[in-house]
Amino acid sequence: MAKQLLGKEVAAALNEKIKAQAEALKAKGVVPTLGIVRVGERPDDLSYERGATKRCDTLGVAVEKFVLPADVSQEELMKVIDKVNEDSSIHGVLIFRPLPSHLDEKAVIRALKPEKDVDGITDGSMVGVFAGTDQGFPPCTPQACMEILDHYGIDCTGKKAVVVGRSLVVGKPAAMMLIKKNATVTVCHTRTKDMPSVTREADILIVAAGRAGVVDGSYVAPGQVVIDVGINVNEEGKLCGDVKYDEAEPVVEAITPVPGGVGAVTTSVLVGHVVEAAARTLK
Ligand code: NAP
Repeated sequence: MAKQLLGKEVAAALNEKIKAQAEALKAKGVVPTLGIVRVGERPDDLSYERGATKRCDTLGVAVEKFVLPADVSQEELMKVIDKVNEDSSIHGVLIFRPLPSHLDEKAVIRALKPEKDVDGITDGSMVGVFAGTDQGFPPCTPQACMEILDHYGIDCTGKKAVVVGRSLVVGKPAAMMLIKKNATVTVCHTRTKDMPSVTREADILIVAAGRAGVVDGSYVAPGQVVIDVGINVNEEGKLCGDVKYDEAEPVVEAITPVPGGVGAVTTSVLVGHVVEAAARTLK
């Protein structure tokens, strides 16, 4: 039976560290604060906002919300972005996306200061990930994958890592982060030929394809660590990953469940970024 890599264990350990850092900052007179910019009332946004707010509360991070009507003008939204950029009491900013289609999302992202970009959406943050510097912040999901590897003591040095997916939000930054950890990395996508023969060679396999069950038992091999980033809803309406868990789990060494894997870590990573952004203002 494979070892289960449980997001809640990773999140619990991260939360302890974040809480201690937040307390240390408060002792120095800095209250780490997340600014949430939400346009409209999409149920997904509201649910994520509730989760993030609750996590911030329990970890000693303040939240300031900027809620705008769904028909807000570009000009009004840009004013809010300017405001959060200039407000030194707000250390990190989360902008819910996608924005309504009448808004220029790229312009909004370009306007956000990378030092406040705790969700890793700006070009500045991406430069930080690719250059291996601390400019901005990496996207929370690939960092959550790295936190899982670190928590369970999985050393990447000299290992073969395969990432399935090349999006800017998960696949590409995950590949860069694995390189920083001294892994030898291959990235697969829809044009990859004979993907099972590539993924079976991996010591560490990160799957972020966004297709339920695309990785079945023929894609995995004994000894592998599998991190399933996918969040999909199957025909029975249940959450499931990109990996066919029932087929992969008996074969591999360790695997994240869905739900209960990567998704359980991302909010803690986000809150950790807010605390780090606040700490950077003291440096
Ligand atoms: P995305 O933008 O749709 O990108 C998917 C990537 O996977 C693309 O690069 C695509 O290749 C590749 N791909 C799709 N089907 C494939 C196949 N059959 N074989 C090989 N490669 C394939 O998705 P994303 O935003 O990166 O998200 C990926 C998954 O992670 C989704 O299920 C999403 O819900 C989940 N997610 C989870 C969290 C979390 O907190 N756990 C956070 C964010 C996202 P091409 O480039 O060739 O099209």
